[in-house]
Amino acid sequence: MSNCATATNREKFMTFQPVHSHAYTRVRLSDVVSTQIRELISTGSLMPGERLPAERDLAEQLNVSRPSLREALIRLESDGFIRAVGRGGFVVSDVTAPLVSHPLAALLEQQPNASADVLELRHGLGTLSAAYAAERATDADLARIAEAFEALEDAVAEKSTRIAEKDAAFHLAIADATHNIALAHVMHGLNELMRESMLTSHRLIDYDDEVEAALLAQHRAMLTAIVAHDAARAREAAGAHLDYVRAFYRDRPVKLPMK
Ligand SMILES: [Zn+2]
Repeated sequence: MSNCATATNREKFMTFQPVHSHAYTRVRLSDVVSTQIRELISTGSLMPGERLPAERDLAEQLNVSRPSLREALIRLESDGFIRAVGRGGFVVSDVTAPLVSHPLAALLEQQPNASADVLELRHGLGTLSAAYAAERATDADLARIAEAFEALEDAVAEKSTRIAEKDAAFHLAIADATHNIALAHVMHGLNELMRESMLTSHRLIDYDDEVEAALLAQHRAMLTAIVAHDAARAREAAGAHLDYVRAFYRDRPVKLPMK
């Protein structure tokens, strides 16, 4: 997951545009900067979890002073678009996460078929994602999806404890390639909801070579169809994969984590 993100970071950060700072007062300047960053988030150039460049680099790319940039970053943070990580760094917030993880998680927690409901939703969104990704993926998107697939393949070969995480990253790379920001953000939010719950725990506890081989073949079929820009086949491959996943978990209901 992280290597996919870093592979695309540089190209995405190229999208920061220098601001003509002489045209604005300092306060207006921070408005212009925060608006630009919000636009990059809303158009999907910056995705949830992505790290913004270091303050010095970002100020340089935007051609603004560090105090103006800092003011913009503080505003974006208080509006919930970015959050602070580590020493002075920021990552893009998952704007759907509060929506998905609080009231919905609490409701799902109370009902026994929660995981089936989430998987049903994921089935719908996953097939849609695959079809749109097949139609719209750029070469960079395809490279990122292929890279995520290879990381998953390696994790399976090594019987790594990170298989579920790599699996999720593959699906998210596809969601990001739809260029539908609403779909991508909901898929990221849904992933947060599922993380550390059914997928992770079962893949670790009930590790099964046959199941992993079947899943990998399904993922490969999705990749092949998307690379071929064949939307119907991509939708079908994703549907078959998510049907298999739902059948697998039907006999193994698990509760979602309480948030
Ligand atoms: Zn999968």
